[in-house]
Amino acid sequence: MKILVINAGSSSIKYQLLDMEKGNPLASGVVERIGEDMGNLTHKAYPGTADENKSTFEKPFPTHKEGMHEVVALLTDSEKGVIKDRSEIAGIGHRIVHGGEYFFKPTLVDNEMLEKLRKTIPLAPLHNPGHIIGIEVAMELFPGVKQVCVFDTSFHQTMEPKAYQYGIPYELYEELGVRRYGFHGTSHKYVAREASKVLGKPLEECNLVTVHLGNGASLSAVKNGKCIDTSMGLTPLGGIIMGTRCGDIDPAILGYIADQKGWDLKKTLNVLTHESGLKGICGSNDLRDIHKRREEGDERAQLAFDMAVHRCRQFIGAYFFELGEVDAVIFTAGIGENDPDYRAGTMEGLEKFGIKMDADKNANWNRQPSAVSADDSPVKVLVIATNEELEIANDTVAVLNE
Ligand code: ADP
Repeated sequence: MKILVINAGSSSIKYQLLDMEKGNPLASGVVERIGEDMGNLTHKAYPGTADENKSTFEKPFPTHKEGMHEVVALLTDSEKGVIKDRSEIAGIGHRIVHGGEYFFKPTLVDNEMLEKLRKTIPLAPLHNPGHIIGIEVAMELFPGVKQVCVFDTSFHQTMEPKAYQYGIPYELYEELGVRRYGFHGTSHKYVAREASKVLGKPLEECNLVTVHLGNGASLSAVKNGKCIDTSMGLTPLGGIIMGTRCGDIDPAILGYIADQKGWDLKKTLNVLTHESGLKGICGSNDLRDIHKRREEGDERAQLAFDMAVHRCRQFIGAYFFELGEVDAVIFTAGIGENDPDYRAGTMEGLEKFGIKMDADKNANWNRQPSAVSADDSPVKVLVIATNEELEIANDTVAVLNE
């Protein structure tokens, strides 16, 4: 069975075609700058080995439709295509950033569903309109093929009101849906399930802290397999310090900066989203660069790293109290998988809380889901490479089989 996973943005479409028997991608790529004078498409097909057939070319894509047409042409190309015909695609899984309170599980697309999805647009005005266009184009290009939406927010819908409500007038929740939703749910869910396999325990019996550290970053507290708290909020701007996003700050800072600088709300939020976090402190949002500069004695780079680790520890500590008992802390995504220093800094000096790292294992993690804590560490520290596309494809298959 072959499943196409689509992540459509306002001017881009990321895609991956997966062979579900093998759990492997057959092809993946991205169409960028849709609607601009010149667009860009990068396509990779790897029937045997990774990068077997990578091509990038420029071409205008006036709308998402032309972009998707090109993707289908590449997938079914008589020479280099990975499938003979688009009819080989059994289902399409769409990554959707925000499902509001409407969607708490992967959901089959139909008219009623799309109507609800449109109601979530004010909650994710930068993402959900693009996702909806992606669904509409896919429905047109693949008539009769079932489409499934998989939401970044749905894993967190198991949180109780005490965890998701903000201390603001209740009417603002009722009228506008202002509450904590959480994001990266597909990744948190995927690594939680993989962790239960490593721990040799059913997921329903696992208490976990999942730490997704990419350019965007968030943590979740998972009790008996269900999310009970998460660090991101109404939007993906909240929580820990990220590459360019500030994370949680005193909300009054927003008004103070805007007043003093004479900026409007849009400009202020733009700075907090794109010019803050690690980049705001030291000018770089890439930890590889930050580590290099730390080694050269760059104090700002050191400060940025220390701040990020400090804030991440605060959340992990809070989640330990919420969970009461923890089986494992799991690191994933670009930083979580590749940065032993970040992991070591976050987990340092916590032996009294049951965390004992193995420096050697931490420095030499081999990309397999495994522990980087000492064998006798009561709480395991695991590193698990996330695979959001596979999780979306699995969710899609599950809905198709319902
Ligand atoms: P996204 O959230 O965009 O999917 P990723 O999960 O790919 O991002 O994470 C990207 C980040 O991972 C980079 O900005 C960088 O900080 C970090 N990263 C990638 N490789 C390494 C590495 N070898 N060492 C430290 N950090 C790394």
